[in-house]
Amino acid sequence: MQRNLLSHRFFEKAETLIPGGVNSPVRACKSVGCRPVFIERGDECYLYDADGNSYIDYVCSWGPMILGHCHPHVVSAVTEAVNQGTSFGAPTWREVKLAEKIVEHVPSIEKVRLVNSGTEATMSAIRLARGFTGKKKILKFDGCYHGHADSFLVKAGSGIATLGIPGSPGVPEEIVANTISIPFNDMVIFQQIMEQDGDDIAAVIMEPVPANMGVVLPDDGFIELVREKTIQHHTLLIFDEVITGFRIGLGGAQEFFRILPDLTCLGKIIGGGLPVGAYGGREEIMEQIAPSGPIYQAGTLSGNPIATAAGIATIEVLERPGIYEELQEKADCLATGLTELAKQHGIKCVNQRIASMMTTFFGRTSTIRNFRDALESDTEMYSSFYRAMLARGVWLAPSQFEAAFTSVALSHEAIEYTLQAAESAFIQLREG
Ligand SMILES: *Cc1c(COP(=O)(O)O)cnc(C)c1O
Repeated sequence: MQRNLLSHRFFEKAETLIPGGVNSPVRACKSVGCRPVFIERGDECYLYDADGNSYIDYVCSWGPMILGHCHPHVVSAVTEAVNQGTSFGAPTWREVKLAEKIVEHVPSIEKVRLVNSGTEATMSAIRLARGFTGKKKILKFDGCYHGHADSFLVKAGSGIATLGIPGSPGVPEEIVANTISIPFNDMVIFQQIMEQDGDDIAAVIMEPVPANMGVVLPDDGFIELVREKTIQHHTLLIFDEVITGFRIGLGGAQEFFRILPDLTCLGKIIGGGLPVGAYGGREEIMEQIAPSGPIYQAGTLSGNPIATAAGIATIEVLERPGIYEELQEKADCLATGLTELAKQHGIKCVNQRIASMMTTFFGRTSTIRNFRDALESDTEMYSSFYRAMLARGVWLAPSQFEAAFTSVALSHEAIEYTLQAAESAFIQLREG
């Protein structure tokens, strides 16, 4: 306990001022039975807390820090931008440059609008889909998280799953009455719903690779079917690539699976650790947004110079040859190592990975294909693992229903250390 003395003192004060002491629920670490650790600074793949302890970081700020912390190219771009002023509420060249990079890399995006968070991106994309199609309903998948806007708080993943709550008070029934949520990877139910309601469904929104119930891979043919049926019913397909965008590759999941959605939502990595989101897609649809069209959406700080500087610099580094191969190789090392050690020590778990994102589901040996499967994993065991790893200086997400990310800054030495920590944690788990 001495180890986190200052963190605990800060948290006590925080609880008197901020609901639950945190500005985003999962950070409170309630579900893993801990009080939160306060971070002082980050450097490459390490975090340093208020008491001077260090941790190898696999949360990467929930995705954005794909380069690790304080990457010199990002730091110098942000510093240069800061010295020129922090916000003008007028167009700047950096917005155009970030938009150009997004359009260049993400196959389905012809035009893009920058916003300040992933939530804003999905919220705006849904408004656009409704405005464009003249239809009301939206279809999502259980356990997928699309930010905290009213329409999406139905069987949502991430913090909602962690806290085990069905939705949220304060969301009017009339609003969620227009949201249909069905199991991921269930082709039969999906087809039935599209037959039944497709002509009233403005959009199907999906994480092409869900990461907010832990990482779940789409079955062969599932995304293809969603694309085919949405076209048939004049329903827009929205890929929420807030996590997978620039994570699975420069072109995200749509490039990997070679399927083009009508609209794409981005966030996290494209802000390089500053608040940025984006939504984009076919020109004909995007042109419906004000001021070129009638569908309203705006933002005082949208396209902010510091945030766009960080985003551009992050993408510039990701464009260097071999970066994604390196990210993937490190993630593979870690996943293979963990699977091997778990087997050796008789720990029941399954590791699910794509590119540099993965989840180790405890208490399961068969593949997790949907939210129901994910909920059957052993969250108690995950919590014990989480605490054991934290005590050994490894920073994992404080929930079974989240992803672990590897960063460009992660060293092989750090991976080696992590695997040793995991081995000793597994031994501790088994001995109880
Ligand atoms: C994080 C996330 C969001 C919400 O983004 P915020 O920036 O937290 O508002 C939306 N969709 C997905 C898939 C996410 O992972």
